[in-house]
Amino acid sequence: MHIVGALLIVLVVGDLGSTFLYHVPQHLWFTLHLRTHHDRRRSYWDHAVLSRDPAILLDGILGALPYLIVAAGAARLSWQGALLGLLLGQLHVWWRHTTELGWRTPRPIEAILRPLQIVLPEDHDGHHRNPEVEFGDIFRFYDAPAQALISLLAPTSRRTRNASSRRRRTKRIPVRA
Ligand SMILES: [Zn+2]
Ligand SMILES: [Zn+2]
Repeated sequence: MHIVGALLIVLVVGDLGSTFLYHVPQHLWFTLHLRTHHDRRRSYWDHAVLSRDPAILLDGILGALPYLIVAAGAARLSWQGALLGLLLGQLHVWWRHTTELGWRTPRPIEAILRPLQIVLPEDHDGHHRNPEVEFGDIFRFYDAPAQALISLLAPTSRRTRNASSRRRRTKRIPVRA
């Protein structure tokens, strides 16, 4: 039983940490994740799974860090469960990026995973198509609070700052002319 408990803690709390301490802040204020994970010039299977580019690896490591920290704690409950949680988490990274390879989740699997709110590759594909939606890497119940937090903090975001500095720049032009 401790094995299952530790496993669930790694996945549920790890995804919570990764979503709110890494993924959401990256979308709001930073560029690393957007330059790497959301680089539309290449296939996301390639950069999420195959690439050894240092910036891409750094994005992966920072995103995985919360899972690792939680696993270190959960190992006190059951190290086997913590390890299994990390393994499943890694398998899920690969699996959720397979839509590009042509994966379609079979109906029976979808029927089991939907009520558990587990992110299907089709869901995560939605995040790559539109980076504003489908937060939560493993669990979909993190999507709504993540989007709410992003819109709450939108006035502080990089995009808003850039837009207002662009506005200032364009306003200055007629003054100089
Ligand atoms: Zn992805
Ligand atoms: Zn993202």
